[in-house]
Amino acid sequence: MKKNINNQRRSFLKGSVITAAALVSIPNELFAESTAKKVVIVGGGIAGSTIARYLRKFIPQTTLLEITIIEPKTTYTTPFGTNEIITGARTLEALTVSYDALKREITGVMVHKKASSINSTAKYVSTEDGMEYLYDFCIVATGIDFDYSDIVGLNAQTNVQVPHAYDLVNDGSIEQITELKSQLDAMANGAKVVLVAPQNAYRCPPAPYERASQIAQYIKENKPNSAITILDPKGAFAKQDSFEKAWSELYGYGTDSAIITWEGSTVVNEIIIPNTGAKIIKTETDEISAEVVTYIPTMKASKFAYDAGLIETDSAMFDLDKRWAPVNQETFESTMAGKEGIYIIGDSSKTNLPKSGYAANSEAKACAMAIVSKIKGINPTPETIMTNGCYSFVGQDYAISILQKFRIKEDKSGYALVSQGRNSSPLEADARWRKKEAEQGHAWYTNFRKDCFGV
Ligand SMILES: Cc1cc2nc3c(=O)[nH]c(=O)nc-3n(C[C@H](O)[C@H](O)[C@H](O)COP(=O)(O)OP(=O)(O)OC[C@H]3O[C@@H](n4cnc5c(N)ncnc54)[C@H](O)[C@@H]3O)c2cc1C
Repeated sequence: MKKNINNQRRSFLKGSVITAAALVSIPNELFAESTAKKVVIVGGGIAGSTIARYLRKFIPQTTLLEITIIEPKTTYTTPFGTNEIITGARTLEALTVSYDALKREITGVMVHKKASSINSTAKYVSTEDGMEYLYDFCIVATGIDFDYSDIVGLNAQTNVQVPHAYDLVNDGSIEQITELKSQLDAMANGAKVVLVAPQNAYRCPPAPYERASQIAQYIKENKPNSAITILDPKGAFAKQDSFEKAWSELYGYGTDSAIITWEGSTVVNEIIIPNTGAKIIKTETDEISAEVVTYIPTMKASKFAYDAGLIETDSAMFDLDKRWAPVNQETFESTMAGKEGIYIIGDSSKTNLPKSGYAANSEAKACAMAIVSKIKGINPTPETIMTNGCYSFVGQDYAISILQKFRIKEDKSGYALVSQGRNSSPLEADARWRKKEAEQGHAWYTNFRKDCFGV
């Protein structure tokens, strides 16, 4: 009987455009198995929390779907917003969210432990204390890790002295953004600041430049004889025209008295951190000293994704393209041999979408739909429009934004941009517009966080 109804549903759906609405309109009971499907989500950040919420929205019945989240932290601090701590516009407390609402909503289990491995044959995730969590579907949403193989003199420990402040979740006890703020507060008026930007691909493309802007604002207001230089291995960067325009308007960019300078195509090879005094930054052609340095390292998929065998590690070369987990671009299921049933979403996955919270949230929703479709036997997976967005706070009451939409390419090899510009900052805009963008950016933060964590 159940089979017939399923067949009817499938033929009804065949050939039509399937939407998320159609997906939820099919009664879950029609697809009931004798045992509930088990979903284990590793990582309760942006992608992991979002998918937990949306899976439960699609299948509210705990008898049909059991959800377990494995996440070591007991609260989550959003990386977005942290640059504004530099000027005092935000606090860490305001950026920290409780998991209570999420736990209530998913009517599942959240264990605050670190996952250590996946047994993809017996289908379970192990945690560091030796516990095993069986899954039918395993979601890996463990964010990023850093790579120090291309820099002399730095590692995860010493990086704290030239804080990247880029991942507040995995770094242990020292919140690097607080350290960076303390160093800026302690430096003399006239001291030099250097920000070393990372190579592509990395988390939140505009974020290093937003940080440089926030430091420039801090300097302008507090230490007007100081200046910040961005050393960038890239020849161009996200929203460059808008940033440079803002820097010209606010910080004398391009003039002799500029507070902010950008040096593109400049590769930093070594950083020397003496016990006292300025740090020495060595590039291929130069040696620069600076009292405060924020070094944002090369990034790669999370350690857990590597440990779980979800990355192609056959190449010993420094290959930026092989640092992320290869996935089916539509469903986010791993394409590594023997890893069926494991899905990678958020910054760890290899897609041509930007590595952003917005994209992580979109990927989570697309992946939730793919899993629910699989459970319900719906084929093809409903299409989702992927979104990316970013508000960058470049000065007091001055923000610039980019909002993008992507659609899966016909050959399913990746995503194509479907619209850009309508909602992105125009290059020519007046002060009122920039202020409005700053207000919208703060409103976005509140709404977006709610969509991820339910609060
Ligand atoms: C300064 C800055 C500004 C940014 N601004 C924006 C912005 O304006 N807009 C935007 O869209 N994005 C922005 N981003 C990017 C955004 O924060 C990330 O892209 C997003 O957090 C990625 O989500 P994720 O789920 O992949 O990773 P995360 O949110 O980092 O979550 C990963 C989770 O996995 C957990 N984890 C790791 N290892 C394990 C393990 N072994 N076991 C269990 N759990 C584990 C971690 O504790 C963490 O909670 C910004 C980032 C930075 C640094």
